Amino acid sequence: MVAVCLLVVLLISGIAVIVERGERRALIDQVRKRAVATASNVAAVSTSALLTYNYVTLEQNAARVAREEDVLYVIILDREGKVAAHSSRSELQGTVMADPVSRRAGASREILVQAATFSGTADPLYDVAVPVYIKESPEKWGTVRVGISLGPMRRAIARSRQGIALMGLVAIALGGAGALLLARRITSPIARLVHGAVEVGKGNLDQQIPLSTGDEIGTLARTFNEMTNNLRTSRLSVESAHRELKSQYKEISFLKDYNDNVLKSMTSGVLTLDLGGRIVTVNQAAVQITGLAAEDMVGKPCEPLFPGSPELPEALLDVLRKERRTPQVIHLRYPRPDGKTLFLEMTTVGLQEETGKLIGALGVIRDLTHERELEEQLRRADRLAALGTMAAGIAHEIKNPLTSLKTFAQLFPKRSGDPGFQKKFTEIVPHELERIHLLAEDLMELARPTQMHLRPADVHSLIDRVLKTHEDMMKGQGIEFRFHPEPTSHPQPLVDPEYLYRALTNLVLNAIQAMPAGGLLEIRTGVEAFTNGDREDPHFVLHVRDTGTGIPGDKLGDLFTPFFTTKAKGTGLGLAITHKIVEGHGGQIRVESRMGMGTQFSVSLPLRGISRRI
Ligand code: ADP
Ligand code: MG
Repeated sequence: MVAVCLLVVLLISGIAVIVERGERRALIDQVRKRAVATASNVAAVSTSALLTYNYVTLEQNAARVAREEDVLYVIILDREGKVAAHSSRSELQGTVMADPVSRRAGASREILVQAATFSGTADPLYDVAVPVYIKESPEKWGTVRVGISLGPMRRAIARSRQGIALMGLVAIALGGAGALLLARRITSPIARLVHGAVEVGKGNLDQQIPLSTGDEIGTLARTFNEMTNNLRTSRLSVESAHRELKSQYKEISFLKDYNDNVLKSMTSGVLTLDLGGRIVTVNQAAVQITGLAAEDMVGKPCEPLFPGSPELPEALLDVLRKERRTPQVIHLRYPRPDGKTLFLEMTTVGLQEETGKLIGALGVIRDLTHERELEEQLRRADRLAALGTMAAGIAHEIKNPLTSLKTFAQLFPKRSGDPGFQKKFTEIVPHELERIHLLAEDLMELARPTQMHLRPADVHSLIDRVLKTHEDMMKGQGIEFRFHPEPTSHPQPLVDPEYLYRALTNLVLNAIQAMPAGGLLEIRTGVEAFTNGDREDPHFVLHVRDTGTGIPGDKLGDLFTPFFTTKAKGTGLGLAITHKIVEGHGGQIRVESRMGMGTQFSVSLPLRGISRRI
């Protein structure tokens, strides 16, 4: 815009200079011509008056012409050069004007134009002197001087200069405005583009430049819009991918933390191996159990790490060698570096990818040392408790016969002659001694391993014998008894008849004692096939059932414990011995009972001959 304005100013100034110069020249020319014409005119009309020295006419002529606006003065000089008429200063009449302009004017024989000044005005003027001649004579009869002011001409020039200046201003204003508009038209879309580009640079991609002009700027704007659109869509997709990645990362890191926490809080030690047999991860518990620092284990081959218990790395490497995918449990002693020996249980299994490809081995180690110690303590306590019960039982059992024996021993010196005493003595003392003897035998049987002599024997007649022996007792108590032997002929188990007789006696006696108010005792035999793994194991089974008091459920576990009894005169050894005898036959004894309904003991003996020490 400034350049355009400058250009306009220069142009207008140039025009003004040229125009003014031309105009001035034309005007001056015109003024001069007019002055000459006016003076010649005055000279023409004044010739006769000059010849006749008619001053009045001369004065009238001068005054008439001097009335004109630009005529400052009219002076008419006579033949001698004296003032004949003066339009504004009549007092000079008859004098000779002595100033250089007047002298040159008076002396000139031709028309003379001089620049001069006049006291009445500040404007420059032209003094035009026209000599007056008569046709016939070369003599000069006078001179007419006219002072023409250059003021009006100057004012005209000033006016035109003003006009040009005004035009220049208008041109500058119009040119400036035009330049401004043009600049606007170019710069404002570019400014918008720049603004848009700056915003895009800041990351604000919602920039659209509303331009639909067909020129290069329109194309630029369209391209810019397309570019920001593309940027926006790609940024949106990048952002959504980023969000997705972020949430996946969150999930994974949560899972990792979760797994780490699970591993950390596990009381079992966890070891993993890569396919090369190097340890990849160990958890805190593994560090604690093995007594080795994690950094001493991770990344190292596991074999040389556990010199004290080679079976530990061996089991893990075995998984890799055999590509084992099913868990296996081993127990091992582990001498920890701090000197303590631990008892460990280790489960090993192959680690596999989802595809089933083996990628390593996993070992889960449990420290069972404490449990072992507890078990040992329990066993010791159990043994002590059992010993206590046993000691109490024995003391109780021996005390009764001993008391009566002691009484007899005390009475013996005084009453040994008394036949009544003698009779009682021979009845009771051997009986009591026999009781102690039997007790001692029972105890020995429980304590000592006894050799069974298993041989083919008729179990049914053995049962018959037991029932016969207790027939009277049962009848006396109102007990009915039945025996249902297995009707078909079947192989008989190998038994030790003496021991089996005692075991059966114990069961039958218990049944009788459980039915003080009478009832029904049933013995039933049969063959049952127990499945043992995938093969069938035939057993001879013998059920002894009563309709007695029954056994409370919480006592069922104690029945076979030595000295467990609920009876005032019981020893609690019967079932313990029976259990031992049945085990000695390689058999099993089970019990079912319902309170108030009755009890059934079932003895099963294998039909393959087994001899065992008990
Ligand atoms: P004891 O007969 O000397 O008490 P046992 O070892 O033979 O010792 O029996 C232990 C306990 O088992 C008995 O005191 C009794 O409480 C219970 N018992 C055994 N057999 C039966 C049965 N058939 N019915 C009810 N209780 C029984
Ligand atoms: Mg008994």
